[in-house]
Amino acid sequence: MQAITGPVLRDIVLIGGGHSHVGVLRMFAMRPLPGVRLTVICTDTDTPYSGMLPGYIAGHYGFDEVHIDLRRLAWFAGARYYRDEVTGIDRAARKVICRRHPPVSYDALSINIGSTPQLGQVPGASEHAVPVKPIRRFNERWLALFERVRSHAGTTTIAVVGAGAGGVELTLAMQYRLRRALVERGRNPDELRFHLFSADEQILPTHNARVRRAFQGVLVKRGVTVHRRAEVIRVAAGGLQTRSGEALEADEIVWVTQAGGAPWLAETGLALDEQGFIRVNESLQSETDPLIFAAGDCVAMRGRPLEKAGVFAVRMGRPLAENLRRSVTGQALVSYRPQSRWLALISTGDRHAVVSRGALYARGDWVWRWKDWIDRRFMRKLSEFEGMPGPPPGASDAVPLAGEEQAQAISAVAMRCGGCGAKVGATVLSRALAGVKPIERDDVLIGLHAPDDAAVMRVPRGMALVHSVDFFRAFIDDPWLFGRIAANHALGDIFAMGAEAQSATAIATVPPGLETKVEDTVFQMMSGAVSVLNEAGCALVGGHTGEGSELALGFAVNGLIDERLIGVMTKGGMRPGDALILTKPIGTGTLFAAHTRLKARGRWIDAALESMQLSNRAAVPCLLAHGATACTDLTGFGLLGHLVEMTRPSAVDAELELDALPLLEGAAETAAAGILSSLQPANVRLRRALRNQEEALKHPAYPLLFDPQTAGGLLASVPAAAAESCLVELRKLGYPRAVRIGRVLAQGDALEPITLIA
Ligand SMILES: Cc1cc2nc3c(=O)[nH]c(=O)nc-3n(C[C@H](O)[C@H](O)[C@H](O)COP(=O)(O)OP(=O)(O)OC[C@H]3O[C@@H](n4cnc5c(N)ncnc54)[C@H](O)[C@@H]3O)c2cc1C
Repeated sequence: MQAITGPVLRDIVLIGGGHSHVGVLRMFAMRPLPGVRLTVICTDTDTPYSGMLPGYIAGHYGFDEVHIDLRRLAWFAGARYYRDEVTGIDRAARKVICRRHPPVSYDALSINIGSTPQLGQVPGASEHAVPVKPIRRFNERWLALFERVRSHAGTTTIAVVGAGAGGVELTLAMQYRLRRALVERGRNPDELRFHLFSADEQILPTHNARVRRAFQGVLVKRGVTVHRRAEVIRVAAGGLQTRSGEALEADEIVWVTQAGGAPWLAETGLALDEQGFIRVNESLQSETDPLIFAAGDCVAMRGRPLEKAGVFAVRMGRPLAENLRRSVTGQALVSYRPQSRWLALISTGDRHAVVSRGALYARGDWVWRWKDWIDRRFMRKLSEFEGMPGPPPGASDAVPLAGEEQAQAISAVAMRCGGCGAKVGATVLSRALAGVKPIERDDVLIGLHAPDDAAVMRVPRGMALVHSVDFFRAFIDDPWLFGRIAANHALGDIFAMGAEAQSATAIATVPPGLETKVEDTVFQMMSGAVSVLNEAGCALVGGHTGEGSELALGFAVNGLIDERLIGVMTKGGMRPGDALILTKPIGTGTLFAAHTRLKARGRWIDAALESMQLSNRAAVPCLLAHGATACTDLTGFGLLGHLVEMTRPSAVDAELELDALPLLEGAAETAAAGILSSLQPANVRLRRALRNQEEALKHPAYPLLFDPQTAGGLLASVPAAAAESCLVELRKLGYPRAVRIGRVLAQGDALEPITLIA
């Protein structure tokens, strides 16, 4: 056996971005493991930090202060981030099943997905109660509730079901915030009625008597009605009922109890406890499957019941990271030793908190300040990355390999052949592509279904062939998503010509590595690409995949256009008086430049990626139906570059309204911070096309005129009279940000064709 560093040799996949996994990411960032690739799959890019949640509800913190930006953290850790929901595990094939991505391969797997409220056990609860988890959805419901209470005249009754620390804290935090909101509106805060339901005699049953008494006192003083031995057994619209027959009419019912394991865990075959939590041993390893680890609220340890609290999940992070590292390097695992007494700092909503640790009790405003200090310090570790490079990895950490895998790894780091020798091996390619299912079309005579030296297509009578090519390097670490965007980008030119896509050939480069890893990357990337090509009715008919230092993908795309439509929409078809319509927001260049520098918020990148996947296909018939005579898709030259490409052949001038430009969220901020794409300087040369540049220099949208776009929207020239109905239609078709951004003018005497309205 020989230790090898260099290419990817092992995949560790993390499901969920809970408190343990954020610790794992940070630890791997500080001490990377050569040859090991981390992938984190999570439904939420903004993953909440539970300790600060009540403070957020009470209004002491903003959203970003209490959420960890998982995309940024993953990027910092060199981990791939897949935003997706996991729905199962195929343990035999060692693959994670996701809602959107194709199955994701793992060598070691870790699950940190928290708990799931079991509303189904109580009739009516699923329909009429608001579960506190997942927090993202609770936050949406909380914001809606907040607005409802503010605008609702008269009394509002809120019932909170569950009187553990979460339920008590949440009650007090909501009450504090809502009362203040009513006072701010000049209303009587006593219009709010809070009821807290405890199935036990005690509230806060896992805390000491003095802590319980303190909270009982606070709840009485704050006018919260506590219902003890009041297990809620039925919920209906506008009310609930307890086992003892007590009924309460309530406007809102918040559910903070009866959490269990996620339902999909039951299908994995992993050992679970009665509540559906994953049974793990002292190494946080599944009792059933040594390749699978788990941590946080979703685990159960035999003979050691653990409180479902964030502090435990956080503490598990370190041994979990160590054991994941050890499991792929073939070393003995370490044990996680849960603390027998743990510190809980439970807040009362009004910047006051109570200390609870074993029999220890204290309270005061100072406790809140202490908690605030601890929590903020924790968040800083996960959000401030400057000056934190990890030390170089030690050789002892490297992954041990033997036999065929060792030979492949040596070959991956050795000098590689160029020319045809740099092709990805035929078996790897055919295995990777076997799982990819391109659509079949009658006009594809020879394609992937019967491969030959080249593909052969028929061009139907009356149609003409439209041909275009595009190719670029991966700018994100999710090959499936990259494949989708690369395909969408390549199709853009075809649609902009008013054509329908017919067929495509792919050209890709993939970094060398173990065959299984290369195969997996090609499969992920091509699955993404083919999903988009298929949606567009475009058949993948062939391609070439070679080795390269970076992942890259492009397509040569053929489209078909009715010969009568040729020339109906061209770059040179603008007419004075037309309205300029843009179908998608701009800003991808600056956002991704910021992402690589850890300066973009993860959710900005999420939104940009969604926009980049939005096809331009449906917009084209709409533009044509509204009389568009000129159209182009926005790509590398940026808005101004593409506009000038249209005004020149059309022999017109144009006016652009900077305030009207649709910008992707965050793009103005990152551009203002001077973070721009490396293509921007070349595009900025086109400022000479601007008549009144000086007046617009300070406008926040100004730099975005030059921002290169990937898979950008369509820029079209539409008769002014049809512009409004065209926009209404475009929005209905799924282009919510489509807007009029200016107008076409008759060519004037000035040399510069574009006037900016700032
Ligand atoms: C109102 C309230 C206040 C609380 N206050 C405190 C407190 O002050 N201190 C404390 O210690 N504890 C507190 N808790 C408890 C605490 O929230 C939990 O114990 C803690 O969040 C558990 O952490 P975790 O890492 O196990 O999972 P979570 O924090 O729940 O994280 C799970 C992650 O997995 C993701 N995920 C879930 N399912 C999937 C899937 N299928 N695919 C992909 N991703 C998935 C989620 O999006 C999330 O990012 C509070 C709880 C509540 C409800």
